[in-house]
Amino acid sequence: MKKYGVNELRKMFLDFMESKGHLVMKSFSLVPQGDKSLLLINAGMAPLKPYFTGAEKPPRTRVTTCQKCIRTGDIENVGKTARHGTFFEMLGNFSFGDYFKKEAIHWSWEFLTEVVGLDANRLYPSIYLDDNEAFDIWNKEVGIPAERIFRFGKEDNFWEHGAGPCGPCSEIYYDRGEKYGCGKPGCTVGCDCDRYMEVWNNVFTQFENDGNGNYTTLKQKNIDTGMGLERLAVVVQDVDSIFDVDTICALRNLVCEIAHKEYEKNYADDVSIRLITDHIRSATFMISDGIMPTNEVAAMFSAV
Ligand SMILES: [Zn+2]
Repeated sequence: MKKYGVNELRKMFLDFMESKGHLVMKSFSLVPQGDKSLLLINAGMAPLKPYFTGAEKPPRTRVTTCQKCIRTGDIENVGKTARHGTFFEMLGNFSFGDYFKKEAIHWSWEFLTEVVGLDANRLYPSIYLDDNEAFDIWNKEVGIPAERIFRFGKEDNFWEHGAGPCGPCSEIYYDRGEKYGCGKPGCTVGCDCDRYMEVWNNVFTQFENDGNGNYTTLKQKNIDTGMGLERLAVVVQDVDSIFDVDTICALRNLVCEIAHKEYEKNYADDVSIRLITDHIRSATFMISDGIMPTNEVAAMFSAV
C-alpha cells in the first residue's frame, strides 16, 4: 500500500466523491452559525443541519466536505495517549434525501479498498443491532462473510450529538495488526485498544432528536458520513499515532526544536510535546475563525 500524505488523502477523498456527483464545499467556520446547541463545530454534519432537517435547501442533494472540527470532551486525555486530540479534520459525504444506505456503503468500501488500497481482509464492517438492511448490503452485495460483520448497540452504532438529525450507523474498522493489540483473549473488533481502528462511519440519518430524547422520523432519509483524516493517515502510513503522521509530525518536530527536547526520550516530556502540538493546532484554527482568547486564558498561558 502506498503511504499517502495527509494532503494527498484529503484530495483523493474529495475527488472521489466529486466523481460520484457530489458538490465539493469548503470547510465551514468552527463557530456554529445559528445553532445554539453547540459551542464549536464538532463534526462534518454539524454546519449542514438545516439541510438535513429540510429547513434550508442545499446547493445540491449530494455534498462533500473536509470539515475543521474541535472536540473538547477528551481534553484531559490529550497528550497522555497517542490517539486523542482536540482538533481534527473530518472527511464526509452527505445525501439530503438523495441516495441512501446502498450507495453509501458501496462507495465507502470502494474508496478504502480501491482508491486508498487498504487490504480488504483487514477491514471489518459493523452495523446497528437490528439493521438487517445494512447487513444484507454488506453481506450479499459487497460480499463480506456474516462472521466478519459485527453488530453493536446504541452506544457504538447510533449517532447523535445533542438535538438534531440522528440515526443508526455502520462503521468500518481496520485491523492494524497484533503489534498494536492488547493481547487479551477477547481482543477483537470493538476492543478499546489500538489494534482495531474505526476509520469510517456511515450514518443513516432517519430521525430527529428534539433534545429531550424524543425521536421523530425525518421527512427525507439522509446520509451523513465521517472519517477522521488524521486517523486514516495513521492507518495508511502505519504509524503509532496522529502525532506521527506527516503534517502533524512536522509541527511536533518544530515544538521539540523550540523546546530543546527530543521526542520519545521520556514519557513526561512526550505528554507535554503532544499537548502543545495539539493545542497549537486547535488555537490556530480557532483564532483564524475569529475566536479570541480572553484575559483569563491569557493569564493562564503566561503562568505556565
Ligand atoms: Zn484489544
